[in-house]
Amino acid sequence: MPSSCRIAVVGGGLAGLAMANALKTFGIEAQVFEAAAALGEIGAAVNTSPQAVKALRAIGVGDAIAAVGHLSRGTYTRNLQTGEFLELNDRLKAAERYGAPYYTFHRADLIDALASGLDLRTVHLGHRLTGLKESGDRVALAFANGVEVEAEYVIGADGVRSVIRQALYGDDNPTYTGQMVWRALLNANDVPEEILEPMGHTQWVGPGCHFLAYYIRQRKFVNIVTQEDTDKWVEEGWSTRGDPNEMRQSFPNPEPRLAKLMSLVTECSKWGLFLRPLTDNWGRGRIQLIGDAAHAMLPNAGQGACQAFEDAYVLGRWLQTSRDPAEAFVNFRRVRIPRVHGVQRLSLSNARFKHARDAKEQKAAIAAGTGSVHGNADWVWSFDPVADWNKEPLVPGSYAA
Ligand SMILES: Cc1cc2nc3c(=O)[nH]c(=O)nc-3n(C[C@H](O)[C@H](O)[C@H](O)COP(=O)(O)OP(=O)(O)OC[C@H]3O[C@@H](n4cnc5c(N)ncnc54)[C@H](O)[C@@H]3O)c2cc1C
Repeated sequence: MPSSCRIAVVGGGLAGLAMANALKTFGIEAQVFEAAAALGEIGAAVNTSPQAVKALRAIGVGDAIAAVGHLSRGTYTRNLQTGEFLELNDRLKAAERYGAPYYTFHRADLIDALASGLDLRTVHLGHRLTGLKESGDRVALAFANGVEVEAEYVIGADGVRSVIRQALYGDDNPTYTGQMVWRALLNANDVPEEILEPMGHTQWVGPGCHFLAYYIRQRKFVNIVTQEDTDKWVEEGWSTRGDPNEMRQSFPNPEPRLAKLMSLVTECSKWGLFLRPLTDNWGRGRIQLIGDAAHAMLPNAGQGACQAFEDAYVLGRWLQTSRDPAEAFVNFRRVRIPRVHGVQRLSLSNARFKHARDAKEQKAAIAAGTGSVHGNADWVWSFDPVADWNKEPLVPGSYAA
């Protein structure tokens, strides 16, 4: 265990492990400190869009993710109560257009793929950061297990309840959005194929809610993830057990395919969605936040982890090319904040349109091309983090000189 290091990455989730791979790719030494006793995430899936796959390839894990990713053909959206087709987001066409595929992963597989690129002696498990102190040219890190480490620079990838964020900005707690999620995993063999036809990835949208189901891990599992506006308080955490009957009651009058799918659920978890307002407070001096610690967002654009992967590549490149890491941090924030704020705004507006209370208006807007349950992802997916890592991003509604 080193008592000092040049760069400490705090958090070994998707953002922290991607960051460690990026630093390794650019020949920069770093140590990762993760609170959990083992790497891994439980029972849920995550999607990566083409531009994030480009970032992952560029940090050296392209083959590892391709081996465990499920190639999604597209999202087929239906009305939740009638089953009527509403919109198709064709992911194979998108892959051709943007030059990289869209994958769905079991989270544990993606974490393993990211860890497989690293020297695990540099990943210190069971290290929960409890405090940090900036002094001169060092940052002192204190961990719950009694270990103390002095780092020259710190990258905070410790998630939505970041201790580092709190140390920098005080009581900046995320607030409950009034939206909650149900999650479940089913054995694909138990799910009649016609339920998810024609794409193997179906989204049902209804008033104030939506429900997604798709294959992961080479079609071995069907992942279920939902979202609804609710006035109930739900604690954040993967492990909050849910009641399948309560889940079913959240989606009244479902069309037959969805009713059958929900009837198969015997175990589920629930999760409250927490956010903080869009902020420029992403770090200062020797400390930089990435991933959810910097920019937690609603999952409605499928971009929280994708933006963390972009962060990892772009920050790695700035660190490689800058004389002074603190200067790299400033440049990182300059190019990343406007883009990620745009994605955060997209997530919010996607949630509103998906959960429209008037199904006729929603359908008319989709037909007229003025609304989309997938949102306009072109500017998000067409970004090339490798070619454009140092450019001011083009974001709808942002100022372009
Ligand atoms: C329902 C839902 C669906 C989603 N779907 C998608 C999707 O399809 N695509 C997508 O791109 N994004 C998706 N997201 C968002 C994505 O899950 C997050 O953006 C992503 O997990 C953030 O990664 P992170 O590493 O920043 O944070 P986390 O995943 O929270 O990881 C933080 C890590 O830091 C560790 N840690 C925490 N505190 C400390 C401490 N004090 N000391 C040391 N270690 C610490 C934790 O143990 C953890 O390992 C979804 C989110 C939700 C809620």
